[in-house]
Amino acid sequence: MSPAQLPHIYFDNAATTPLDPRVVAAMQPFLGGSFGNPSSLHWAGRQARAAVDTARAQVAELLNAQADEVVFTASGTEADNMALIGVAEKFPADECHIVTSAIEHPAVLESLHWLERRGVQVTCVNPNADGIVEPASLLDALRPTTRLVSIMAANNVIGTVQPIAELARISRAHGALFHTDAVQAAGKIPLDVSRTPIDLLSLSGHKLYGPKGVGALYVRKGVTIEAIIRGGGQERGLRSATENVAGIVALGCASDLARQEMADDASRLVQLRERLLEEIGRRIPNAYLIGHRYRRLPGHICLGFAGQEGEAIKLLLELDELGIAVSSGSACSAQHGGEPSHVLMALGIEPVRARGSLRVTLGRFNTAAEVERLLEVLPIAVAGLRRISSGVPASAA
Ligand code: PLP
Repeated sequence: MSPAQLPHIYFDNAATTPLDPRVVAAMQPFLGGSFGNPSSLHWAGRQARAAVDTARAQVAELLNAQADEVVFTASGTEADNMALIGVAEKFPADECHIVTSAIEHPAVLESLHWLERRGVQVTCVNPNADGIVEPASLLDALRPTTRLVSIMAANNVIGTVQPIAELARISRAHGALFHTDAVQAAGKIPLDVSRTPIDLLSLSGHKLYGPKGVGALYVRKGVTIEAIIRGGGQERGLRSATENVAGIVALGCASDLARQEMADDASRLVQLRERLLEEIGRRIPNAYLIGHRYRRLPGHICLGFAGQEGEAIKLLLELDELGIAVSSGSACSAQHGGEPSHVLMALGIEPVRARGSLRVTLGRFNTAAEVERLLEVLPIAVAGLRRISSGVPASAA
């Protein structure tokens, strides 16, 4: 069979998820006849305003928040920038210390580097070898001037889920605000801001079966941040710009579906993930899981293959030839010339091994048959690469 005839299998749901057809149907009217500007007072504007209000309530319900605590943004990246810069701008730079982790997404780390260049002090705590940020590490990093702690809910490279409830409680007790980048976690694992002292939370449409280019920032009532985008005062003055109504409606619908289907999706994905892990362990000698064995997103695995210390990109391309989409580390690091992922380096993994890692992320639309197909071809692909990897005898594969 030529590659074109092979069925396509998508195992890169951490990079982006396919659009749920129900989300497409919900947004469709707002790409056509329902075109109004939510700020307009006439019928067209009122129609758009009502749709944005409904979506706001749907996103809030996913987080157990109140609707007026949700600010729509153009992406998860923008929500992260808005939270970090928005809090820092409230303080003189030399009285502002922020704690984060070494495994955050660049949307967080680059915002903090920018703030550092303006005099804000930043402490980056390392996770343990399993990729977990330990509460004791946060306690060590806190200072009297710590205004904000930003720790992601789940990691995009290794899939580990952080103990954010405990980290948030420690931050609150210290008098610091707590932000979590929940772009990978939202819709996949329960997040409840009514029971957890999270002050700010970022999420993104295209990671929960909605479209790209829309996200949201949860801002707890009473928490004030400085706007980073100024203009007509939309989104309570926190994010000026005429609203992306179709995207917002889609994010609302995607959030609603995630809230209703999260438990079923998660238990199905955990089963598929465990099947993959058990069989890979059996069929591929020296394959190992990176990140905590159980404290991870339902459909997320990151694998290393001892003896195949070449570039994971070769494995990725070989699977791609067969119509199977996976990732090496993270889609973002692919843009940085194949540099080993900073997440894997923070775990203490040597660069050569970090380059050999493979990320397989399952999602709502993956089937058991697709998992079996990967289990058929992955051992063959790894064995082939091991034979050509430097210094490893073919027998070791
Ligand atoms: N944060 C995390 C953990 C992510 O995985 C991503 C996207 O990969 C982002 C932030 C950025 O989200 P967006 O692509 O919506 O800007």
